[in-house]
Amino acid sequence: MTDSADEGASTLAPDDAFAMLGDETRMEILQALGNATEPVSFSELHDDVSVRDSGQFNYHLNKLVGHFVEQTEDGYRLRQAGRRVIEAILSGAVTKAPKFELTTIDEQCHYCGAQIAVRYSEERVQIYCTNCEGAYASPRPTDEPDVPGDYGSLGAMLLPPAGVEGRTPEAAYRAAWTWGNLEILAMASGICPRCSADTEPTIDICEDHNSTEGICGSCGRRYAVFLTSNCTNCNYKIGGGLFLAFCTITPLLSFLLEHDINPISPDVTDIHKLNRVHEDYTEDILTINPLKVRLTTTIEGDEFALTVDEDLEISDVSY
Ligand SMILES: [Zn+2]
Ligand SMILES: [Zn+2]
Ligand SMILES: [Zn+2]
Repeated sequence: MTDSADEGASTLAPDDAFAMLGDETRMEILQALGNATEPVSFSELHDDVSVRDSGQFNYHLNKLVGHFVEQTEDGYRLRQAGRRVIEAILSGAVTKAPKFELTTIDEQCHYCGAQIAVRYSEERVQIYCTNCEGAYASPRPTDEPDVPGDYGSLGAMLLPPAGVEGRTPEAAYRAAWTWGNLEILAMASGICPRCSADTEPTIDICEDHNSTEGICGSCGRRYAVFLTSNCTNCNYKIGGGLFLAFCTITPLLSFLLEHDINPISPDVTDIHKLNRVHEDYTEDILTINPLKVRLTTTIEGDEFALTVDEDLEISDVSY
């Protein structure tokens, strides 16, 4: 695929990009072009922004032409970089900070079956079990003062402010799950869901792991082997149990489909089952150095197991 409209677009250092966008008139120009379906003439564009002096307007427009805006015979239009700026603004990431308080929703914990509760803050849907220890020790009570001390953390999922608006906490949870799942699928495929550069997985092993009571006192997690995937280009980073690294492998997808689970566009029941498959597995560390670990998950009594090493190479799969 090519985008010939972006031929001739310039490269910009991050400092220059921020400086170039740090002006109200320029943001108005980008937004006006973002609302347009076809190229906009100089005079129409001028009518759409608040600055009346045409010399001033022309000055700001010219700053954007090149990297963010393309000047064509038919008028001005956004280049891809300009569209990305508008996307970031419309996602609410730049301008909004909605919150919702801790709310119990009609969804069960994949470990113990009790009801879960969610809250939204700093663009994250934080998830708790109202009964068990969950998957992670969480940094309460300072950061999450409204969360009772006996609620266990089931982790957090990113969701831009646009994903919260007009949705109930339950709908926001499901949107965050589906959106986050698509990010995990990209990450597990080695591609950053934010910027498309390569991701690099790293593995942490808790050598003093003891999770017989649920959460290990040493690492604060349910599983000893923890996966973090970092983008090699932007600051995107995601972490979770090791099983997540394998959520796109063909045998697992076959296993899920055989059990009528849609791993791409899950409904409410699928989300619950996928949580169980991806997060409620057993971890048998066969050797620690070099690492060899067997992960076993079940659905409706059927087992899926894989043996992997520290390079995430799979030596054995069975189901
Ligand atoms: Zn629970
Ligand atoms: Zn541990
Ligand atoms: Zn990235």
